Amino acid sequence: MTIMVPSTATAPGRQALDSALHQLGQAAEHLGLDDGLRTMLATPRRSLTVSVPVRREDGRMDVVQGFRVQHNVSRGPAKGGIRFHPSTDIHEVTALAMWMTWKCALVGIPYGGAKGGVSVDPTELTTRELERLTRRYVNEILPLIGPEKDIPAPDVGTDEQTMAWIMDTYSVNTGYSVPGVVTGKPMTLGGSLGRAGSTSRGVQIAALAALGRSPEGARVAVQGFGKVGALAAQYLADAGCRVVAVSDISGAIYSASGLDVSDVRAWVAESGGVYGYRHADALSHDELFELDVDVLVPAALEGVITAENAPRIKARLIVEGANGPTTPEADEILAANGTVIVPDILANAGGVIVSYLEWVQNMQAYSWSAAEVEMKLRDLMEGAYGEVRSLATDRALTLRQAAHVIGVGRVAEAHQMRGLYP
Ligand code: GLU
Repeated sequence: MTIMVPSTATAPGRQALDSALHQLGQAAEHLGLDDGLRTMLATPRRSLTVSVPVRREDGRMDVVQGFRVQHNVSRGPAKGGIRFHPSTDIHEVTALAMWMTWKCALVGIPYGGAKGGVSVDPTELTTRELERLTRRYVNEILPLIGPEKDIPAPDVGTDEQTMAWIMDTYSVNTGYSVPGVVTGKPMTLGGSLGRAGSTSRGVQIAALAALGRSPEGARVAVQGFGKVGALAAQYLADAGCRVVAVSDISGAIYSASGLDVSDVRAWVAESGGVYGYRHADALSHDELFELDVDVLVPAALEGVITAENAPRIKARLIVEGANGPTTPEADEILAANGTVIVPDILANAGGVIVSYLEWVQNMQAYSWSAAEVEMKLRDLMEGAYGEVRSLATDRALTLRQAAHVIGVGRVAEAHQMRGLYP
């Protein structure tokens, strides 16, 4: 038996949590929140760590660690994705849950924030092992989740199939089908039109709003050519931008005249990664960050833009498709250099917005057209962008600071209106 418990000595998620707490601290200061409320907002309401035994194909049993953190439930049920990644730990999941709270409040959807994670590399498991792992993990967190309590969704390393297994496991335990327990489901199980590309569509909407010029020919680099990054690149190219570089774990590629994004996506579907794509030059991961582009879209993991590489970033606009890609130190350096950052809780909110629309459709056993979903997504994204932009201008804040002031402020207000029980 192998016990795959991550070493707490390295605690990779600590940096993400430190960033989230730093951002909360700044917003709380700006809002003048008292110490009690600050502490309450800095700590998750519920936090569960579980051991998940998995039967491997060779008969051996492995045990991996899983987490579900509900950071806040003042404005509605907890909401947030589930991540399968080897470096996921309780600190990272807590940070991601906190960002979900502010994100939902910022875009005005009636949810609190949550996140789940399993410290595992899904690419090392067979489909059957992954299914057993998912179902057992869901069983372990079953007391926390439910359509009125806490609604998971996809995140890094999980997809529609994972959501289908979650929906089934929960429904079998309940005795009837409960589509509203999870979002990002396949269409046949109550998924929503537009959910699959929703985070990327939101990134496109945010990028075009912040660009402040015609998108025609605007040079774009996308770090992370996965679920979010590949479609964000596609939608930006469709809008007239010139996507000059993209990267994933296999490598980075560059073409000064612009990549044919649909052709790169076809290459990735065939070969598994961008590496080796013939109609472009190879680039190092570091070089991608340093390109002279108009827009840089980090769309992979946290903490990739740091004090070390921030001084060399030439992009005028950074649109955060990922959660937490920029450290607070890098934020300061970039702000001083005049780089505008559309922060994660705004830029990647399209995913949870369409999750919300999916859940509303499930709760009323009804479905909307793709055009209706897209219109509601656009309204919420553009409305939130406008509010952030004008607060930032009025109070001389960065877009991140303004977004946090709005998100944290709304949650604090909900706390104050509800009062403290008992
Ligand atoms: N995992 C996505 C995020 O970080 C989506 C969460 C959701 O739809 O609940 O925003």
